[in-house]
Amino acid sequence: MTSDPLPTTAGARAFLGTPRKQHLIDGAWVAASSGKSFATHDPANGRYLADLPEGTVADVDAAVEAARRAFESSAWRAMTPALRGRMLWRIAEAIDAHADELAELETLDQGKPLKTARFAEIPAAAEQFRFYAGFATKIFGTTIPTSIAYQPAGKQIFAYTTRVPVGVVAAIIPWNSPLVMAAMKLAPALAAGCTVVLKPAEETSLTALRLGELLIESGVPPGVVNIVTGYGETVGAALTHHPQVDKVAFTGSTEVGKLIVAAARGNLKKLTLELGGKSPVIILPDADLGPTVSGVARGIFSNSGQVCVAGSRVYVHRSIMPAVIDGLAAQARALRLGHGLDPTADLGPLINRKQSDRVAAYVTEAVAEGVDLVTGGRQSGDLGTFYDPTVITGAREEMRLMREEIFGPVVSVTPFDEPDQAIAFANDSPYGLAASVWTQSLSAAHRLADRIHAGTVWINCHSYFSPELPKGGHKQSGWGYENGAPGLENYLETKTVCAVI
Ligand code: NDP
Repeated sequence: MTSDPLPTTAGARAFLGTPRKQHLIDGAWVAASSGKSFATHDPANGRYLADLPEGTVADVDAAVEAARRAFESSAWRAMTPALRGRMLWRIAEAIDAHADELAELETLDQGKPLKTARFAEIPAAAEQFRFYAGFATKIFGTTIPTSIAYQPAGKQIFAYTTRVPVGVVAAIIPWNSPLVMAAMKLAPALAAGCTVVLKPAEETSLTALRLGELLIESGVPPGVVNIVTGYGETVGAALTHHPQVDKVAFTGSTEVGKLIVAAARGNLKKLTLELGGKSPVIILPDADLGPTVSGVARGIFSNSGQVCVAGSRVYVHRSIMPAVIDGLAAQARALRLGHGLDPTADLGPLINRKQSDRVAAYVTEAVAEGVDLVTGGRQSGDLGTFYDPTVITGAREEMRLMREEIFGPVVSVTPFDEPDQAIAFANDSPYGLAASVWTQSLSAAHRLADRIHAGTVWINCHSYFSPELPKGGHKQSGWGYENGAPGLENYLETKTVCAVI
């Protein structure tokens, strides 16, 4: 690891130069009603970045009221779909124009390598707005010929549906890919005509707040997007219990997802839940080993394994097990850990020491239970937040390492003899988020894809995302789908109008 580089863009320096951040409520930047704030730090070295307002229940009330007023306002309701679409497009352009600065802020706040932020995630956030900009003008109802027999004599029935926005949305997001997660909720919600209160993760609120400034510059009317920072137990919980919130769009852990289901009962909020995963990877004996090993390594180690779809359980045909283990171990050892702003770094730190300790505890426990640590298993860095990419063999299916989401760069490799056995292993999980299959046989690939219980199955790739590809979890990995046309549906209701004319 090298010394700690500093941001180079004028934008990032200016943003960090005013370190007392505020909530965005009703188009204005305001302090927390309690006057309290909490500091946010660079996870690689602990350097102070900014002070974030510690949101209160009163702040949530103010933000939800602003969102409700905006939802009912003529400024928002009368904005034509074409104008909404143009507004979304302007937001995409603004993100692109500030991509260098946003990438630096994301790297400093979250830890990920600058190249990941600059060339993958920040452009992906812009693409979300661009994709849903086109949808704003394509939200159609239908006319319905009815067969109602009891209409008054001489009259006829005219029936149709319209699609209407669901209302005020609470968008609650995690810390692993902050700006793109915010965009995945804001873009379809705004395209549909909803208003939003966004709660970023307490660890990574900076790019959401900078996005707030860009939203204002892009012409988003006051109150249409509000941003309240703070803790999940206060801000998040208040949003999910709030009687004026119509829908919660949540991405995060399955544990918190279940709390949100309970909280939403009060006014039967609509829910979209994008939750955790324990994604299996199946490698058949005919796989093209070179690209397979690098693809599987990327599928688990990218973003230091802090990816919901990380391919953490690898099932490989026994005949190629030694080659795959050697290949994955070589890839793991070749990855260079460092500060995200260091251009030579392949992997940054985990989000904080707690997460690094959590990952270490899974590995230590598994080693004590007899697994074979092929490589990795070491914490490092000034704060102990870095964790070596780790390859394990000999794990048993019932171990915690195999059943629970680790959210770190740890992969377990297990042999299988028959495809049926691989499918049984893959499906033996409470999660069903994603999976990948690696083979040169088209027919085997699609047959296995059909049998795996997961919201996404990749063939000869892993973690391939795009705004047009629906993404969601089966089993305890979630409810509903983001991206694509289903992503817009999350924010719409159907209204039937039936008239005697
Ligand atoms: P958490 O579930 O801990 O937190 C997610 C968000 O919920 C944060 O903003 C958090 O606030 C907030 N929150 C915490 N407690 C509550 C509560 N009681 N009520 C309402 N909101 C609350 O997840 P992490 O941030 O730790 O993120 C990692 C998890 O996210 C992993 O399980 C990962 O799989 C999942 N994830 C899923 C994705 C998917 O698309 N399926 C994509 C990315 C991640 P605070 O930050 O203050 O704790």
